[in-house]
Amino acid sequence: MNKGGGMKKMKYVLVTGGVVSGLGKGVTASSIGVLLKACGLRVTSIKIDPYLNTDAGTMSPFEHGEVYVLDDGGEVDLDLGNYERFLDIKLTRDNNITTGKIYQAVIDKERRGDYLGKTVQVVPHITDAIQEWIERVAMIPVDGQPGPADVCVIELGGTIGDIESMPFTEALGQFSYRVGAGNFCLIHVSLVPVLSAVGEQKSKPTQHSVRGLRSLGLTPNILACRSTLALEENVKQKLSQFCHVPAENIITLYDVPNIWHLPSLLRDQKAHGAILGALNLLGVAREPNLKEWTSRAESCDMLLEPVRIAIVGKYTGLSDSYLSLLKALLHASVSLRKKLVVDWVPASDIEDETAKENPDAYKAAWKLLQGADGVLVPGGFGDRGVEGKILAAKYARENRIPFLGICLGMQIAVIEFARSILGLQDANSTEFDPDTTSPCVIFMPEGSKTHFGGTMRLGSRRTYFQVMDCKSAKLYGNRGFVDERHRHRYEVNPDMVSTLEDAGLSFTGKDETGQRMEIVELPNHPYYIGTQFHPEFKSRPGKPSALFLGLIAAACGQLDSLLHAHKIPNGMAKKVSLYQNGNATKFAKIPADGIYSNCNGVHA
Ligand code: GLN
Repeated sequence: MNKGGGMKKMKYVLVTGGVVSGLGKGVTASSIGVLLKACGLRVTSIKIDPYLNTDAGTMSPFEHGEVYVLDDGGEVDLDLGNYERFLDIKLTRDNNITTGKIYQAVIDKERRGDYLGKTVQVVPHITDAIQEWIERVAMIPVDGQPGPADVCVIELGGTIGDIESMPFTEALGQFSYRVGAGNFCLIHVSLVPVLSAVGEQKSKPTQHSVRGLRSLGLTPNILACRSTLALEENVKQKLSQFCHVPAENIITLYDVPNIWHLPSLLRDQKAHGAILGALNLLGVAREPNLKEWTSRAESCDMLLEPVRIAIVGKYTGLSDSYLSLLKALLHASVSLRKKLVVDWVPASDIEDETAKENPDAYKAAWKLLQGADGVLVPGGFGDRGVEGKILAAKYARENRIPFLGICLGMQIAVIEFARSILGLQDANSTEFDPDTTSPCVIFMPEGSKTHFGGTMRLGSRRTYFQVMDCKSAKLYGNRGFVDERHRHRYEVNPDMVSTLEDAGLSFTGKDETGQRMEIVELPNHPYYIGTQFHPEFKSRPGKPSALFLGLIAAACGQLDSLLHAHKIPNGMAKKVSLYQNGNATKFAKIPADGIYSNCNGVHA
């Protein structure tokens, strides 16, 4: 709607949560964004995490799920991944607000003397900083079009009443007043439990949490109630009466077979009417068009033919640790009309050590690995399970099972090759064995080599294909280069590249200097690819990431037909050889547009 010209007011939708955590608030907020986008509005989003960490970079995936990485190198809460995937947008690190970031900004200001001797306090200084941050970040264009979006969806993490979210609820109460009626809509996601003995839907917990919300100066426009089934009319009436929310603004988020149903579930209950009404946008927006979402959600439910992927990792107990990876596998499987079955294989369970200590776990792990149509070794830090991952790579290489290794997964594939094919028994990454005599993976920071802090190579970097006649280049649509996101410190040792290549490994993607190996392939294997980058972060429903699509296609015997769809255009091969002769500037001129769209619609 907004084409970038003229002054207009940003509209805000705040999503809060009550009663219990884990209600799927993030997915609900993303689905609200999808619904508004389907009404022709441009949507951005902000996630507020009331924890003290400045970002998610230091948080354990065990405890908090994966660290999501943005183009700008921001290490953020995994909910930002939901927003990027659902809305097909690119967020910035500032779209994730944490208590740590806000306090740091205020304390920095205080140290600079910007408060002119005043006592610096939570109200008004912290609360003002929160509001200013929201207003500033909401204006950043995130959908590739110029000018700010029309609507900013703000998700407040945690549950209403938490001590640590108090400054945010206070700030947001002030904010709703500041932006004024007609520009602010509050959606409270709550729980309506059903007592199994009587099968009765209970409204009391929601009543209590709305009371809590009101006491903090926030008035809900819409209640979105999680429950197993649709809310009964009398329960709606009761909630309406006690919570002062019109019955037509009470939506039930009942259980659906997959989360892609949520936007249409909201639409069917006219949530868009209620939101647009609160935002004074009824005359501006159109009826929502959710055709693509609905058909994808429905076709996902009907998939029967399984494709089994073994994920050999460290955090296999918590699937949120690999959320983007799972989504990328799902996007690829759905587009190839296969039912994704993920087998989690704890990397350390396939190690020889486990055979002695826990033979049952060892047998079970190997059985899963051997039953898989494809093997994926994800990224990771620390040496636990590394030898198991190496064994998985060896198994996939020797048995010609489709394999995708991501970041650490690529590094261990190179180590395995060096050990098995070059006979370098001692080959390792200096991350795990600083004294190895065959360091095939080494510390290659972009900044200082002596200081560990802040040395991570983070965010979007460009990979140039070295040959076009390779699977990765074809899967990426025969482009000269591709931009993907990174999060690592170690890389393949450039001094060992020619030895590895002479033995049959092919580094088909490198950075602009030719010193950093980005993609490795085994040309004589059905599908054996490793990437230093994390392609999972840019996969979208309907736009699966190229190398995941390749993995799934190979795992179900469809790679040839997929590659057939990507013919090398004339002239491209010539440009590649120019680059190989060291003429990198020739490549830099190729326009960056539409790299990922090549995967779109190939299997519509
Ligand atoms: N630990 C490895 C490194 O720092 C791999 C990191 C990752 O897999 N994200 O390079």
